[in-house]
Amino acid sequence: MDQPNDEILFVGTAEAEHVEMYIKAIWLIKEREEEVKISTIAKMLNVRQPSVVQMLKKLNDRNLVTYNKAGVKLTEEGEKIGTSMMRNSRLLEVLMDSALKVEIDEEMVCGIEHHMNKQFTDALCTMLKHPRKSPHNHDIPMGECCQGN
Ligand SMILES: [Zn+2]
Ligand SMILES: [Zn+2]
Repeated sequence: MDQPNDEILFVGTAEAEHVEMYIKAIWLIKEREEEVKISTIAKMLNVRQPSVVQMLKKLNDRNLVTYNKAGVKLTEEGEKIGTSMMRNSRLLEVLMDSALKVEIDEEMVCGIEHHMNKQFTDALCTMLKHPRKSPHNHDIPMGECCQGN
């Protein structure tokens, strides 16, 4: 199957960003209803498969992911982080595309998304009138600000 090329992931250098990008990758694979495979994660993040295995073990220890023979799954906490990452990145895409009218820069998105707190994200979402779809036509996870809007 062809990988959609519209959401490219860039792994940052900071440890926390690194962790969040792995969670984001797993979240995205799940959204596409594909099996979460080491090779798919490696390809998405442009890293080597042994690095993926090493990180999955770490995420398993931190209770963000369950990683065993049955496969790779996000825990409730991991799911929460993934959802908020995707909400951040897709809102940033809408901001660039429809408000700022600049070209969507996925590398910039992948940097900024890790530094947005809830207040900032909800304010951005409200300014953009709680968009439901990203410019690439993906669903944007709803936040508290979206209730009743
Ligand atoms: Zn990122
Ligand atoms: Zn909202």
